[in-house]
Amino acid sequence: MKIARFNGGKIGIVTGDRIVDVTAICGVDTAEWPPVGMNRVIANFATLRPKIEAALKTAPSEALSSVRLETPIPWPHKLLAMPSNFRDHAAEMKTNGFGIAGSLPADEAGFFMKSNGSLIGPADTIVIPDRPGRTFHHECEMATIIGTGGNDISVDKALDHVFGYACLMDITMRGAGERVMRKSFDTFCPVGPWITTADEVGAPDDIDMKLWVNGELRQHAVANQMIVGIREQIETCSAVTRLEPGDIIASGTMAGVGPLVPGDTVEIEIARVGRMKLGVTSRVAAART
Ligand code: MN
Repeated sequence: MKIARFNGGKIGIVTGDRIVDVTAICGVDTAEWPPVGMNRVIANFATLRPKIEAALKTAPSEALSSVRLETPIPWPHKLLAMPSNFRDHAAEMKTNGFGIAGSLPADEAGFFMKSNGSLIGPADTIVIPDRPGRTFHHECEMATIIGTGGNDISVDKALDHVFGYACLMDITMRGAGERVMRKSFDTFCPVGPWITTADEVGAPDDIDMKLWVNGELRQHAVANQMIVGIREQIETCSAVTRLEPGDIIASGTMAGVGPLVPGDTVEIEIARVGRMKLGVTSRVAAART
């Protein structure tokens, strides 16, 4: 099942090129603040799923192209992320001097966090801040969405705690500064275009991950090339901090990172999960609109 957020916090199920509004069935109030309707849908999904499936048989649908998709979980409890998690990316960071002194691969470093405030959706635009002399890179990643929370989740139980997966771009300012800050600018974490539930994706191992800039393929890997796999990411994170429904774990990226500049378009595809394309603009241009 592909679960989306759209048109101001509505919950929708995507089937082909159509979307069915299940906001009322899910009991979500689009005006609520903070906007945690999707967190609640995820937490209560076992109960909601049969109601949603029944509604899909009769409820009217609208064209997916006629709605504005939003980031599926705008207010997660946590946005966790794996650092250097592909050997080819770790190597390029050393070769190109992109890395910061003392940065370690994910199996030694553990995880870091991005600000929840950096989340945006597939119809939004990445805004490059006004930081003369700094470069801003794309990182192609897969988002694991936690369903059932827990502490100390073991590798063999990890997938039982996964609600689904989404595409994620970990936009990053290179160079000096705390990693958390360099990756936390507003708009620096596009997630979407929806959440594809784990039962539809299957084992998160042979999944192709691709990213294009202006139509040119820049990053490509398979999920099973991660140093710390999806199951181990859940074990690593939950050993430190309790995972909650709707928490997001960013997988880390493969080789091929490179600059994004205003005017670019950047497109990501996670096989069996989804695909989305975003524009890139400058702070000055964004302020004008
Ligand atoms: Mn990253």
